[in-house]
Amino acid sequence: MARRLHPVAALDHAHVWHPFTQMRDWLRAEPIVLTHGRGATLRDVQGRRYLDANSSIWTNLHGHRHPRLDAALRRQLGKVAHTSSLGLAGEPAARLAAELVDAAVPPAPTPDSNTAPNPTLTKVFFSDDGSTAIETALKLAYEFTRRTHGPKPAPRFLSIDGAYHGDTVGAVSVGHIDLFHKAYGGLLFRADRVASPYCYRCPFNKAAPERADARSYRKCHWECVDGVASQFERAQRTKRPYSAFVYEPRMQGAAGMIAQPDGWLPRVATIARAQGSLLIADEVMTGFGRTGGASLFAGHAEGVVPDLMALAKGLTGGYLPLAATLATQPIFDAFLGEYAEFRTFFHGHSYTGNALGCAVARESLALLRPARSQRTREALARQLTEGLATLWQRPSVGDIRQVGLVAGIELVQDWQRRTPFPLAARAGIRVCEAMTRRGVLTRSIGNVVVLMPPYCTRPDELRRMVSALHDSIEEIHG
Ligand SMILES: *Cc1c(COP(=O)(O)O)cnc(C)c1O
Repeated sequence: MARRLHPVAALDHAHVWHPFTQMRDWLRAEPIVLTHGRGATLRDVQGRRYLDANSSIWTNLHGHRHPRLDAALRRQLGKVAHTSSLGLAGEPAARLAAELVDAAVPPAPTPDSNTAPNPTLTKVFFSDDGSTAIETALKLAYEFTRRTHGPKPAPRFLSIDGAYHGDTVGAVSVGHIDLFHKAYGGLLFRADRVASPYCYRCPFNKAAPERADARSYRKCHWECVDGVASQFERAQRTKRPYSAFVYEPRMQGAAGMIAQPDGWLPRVATIARAQGSLLIADEVMTGFGRTGGASLFAGHAEGVVPDLMALAKGLTGGYLPLAATLATQPIFDAFLGEYAEFRTFFHGHSYTGNALGCAVARESLALLRPARSQRTREALARQLTEGLATLWQRPSVGDIRQVGLVAGIELVQDWQRRTPFPLAARAGIRVCEAMTRRGVLTRSIGNVVVLMPPYCTRPDELRRMVSALHDSIEEIHG
């Protein structure tokens, strides 16, 4: 028999059901019980220290126990923790909404920009997490389309292959990860899919594998974009147009850190707009400076502003569950009317616009916006690029995809043939377990290991994250 579990671990084993976890495996091993954090470091009940190399599942921005975020929460606690948004307004939510609308304005377009004019996001609907932010966007788009184009045919959605948009029923419906979604097929509505612009595994990419990001040496004729165009044309022909196109800008996260080649997003956005479709941007993972550049939102780097934008994860700097769906004025206006017309958006949550969440989100935005903060993120991203370059020495590294401070490292059996590991071989999980033994915490998505450091990560800490990854790949896969 194994030695006795720590009392907290024993309680966890007795009663906590963990997300996305095979609980039989979970109950076989003593879990790491985290108790403290500071900056990029987490500490467990045994006093062991770990680097938080995936920002506590992509939520944390400025590190743990950031003095300014802690103080903002204490200040709000000195006033009130939560009041209802039903029939009442609150200061933190009102101020945060204004600041989000302001941050969602893209930097001035360059004079030679030839993309279609962008809409302006003016309204903010608060909810609790990424799934509910997407759910809100889907309902708004659905109802907007019915009200502006008539109820028939029922509005439909188009999204990207492999997409993950959350776990509520609507969010699962527009997702395309069969492993997660098959089980609930009977509960879902149908959403069509277009190919993911996944250069490394694209059937149209004629380039032989190189030791570089597949986007940089791809040989194709944008067949993925042609596929999007023909999907929209088919929908028009059959008189069942799409209400909205749902996408993650610049990089699909849970799909496997699939980075889009520059130019993909403005091309598909132009096609969708020309066909009268709304754009729903899921910036739950990419938002708040994660993907680099002068703006806080990934779509801006490609000059695309959506009609609806879902935000969560980094919104509170990783402190509290809070989400927001930003919408344009025309979408908002479609819900206006006399009380008895019942055009109201009948949707909401008990904790809508929670005061503590909004207060810490405001402080997080204030930390993000100065140019100095952007320079720090850019320096860290450059260091990450240099560090990741050392991984090409490992024959089991097939592709390295980095956008700003997100990186996915795709492991393969044979890089010259791009042969994938079978999922059951747990190739990514085993590397992450080896990293944990080296004091670095992260999680893989199938065969893709993720590095997503908090923005406060120091150069020596980033070096330790990358070398733990390098040494773990060498240990497990040679
Ligand atoms: C995590 C995630 C979601 C779901 O957010 P939750 O807060 O887990 O509900 C949706 N979309 C993207 C892109 C995500 O990364």
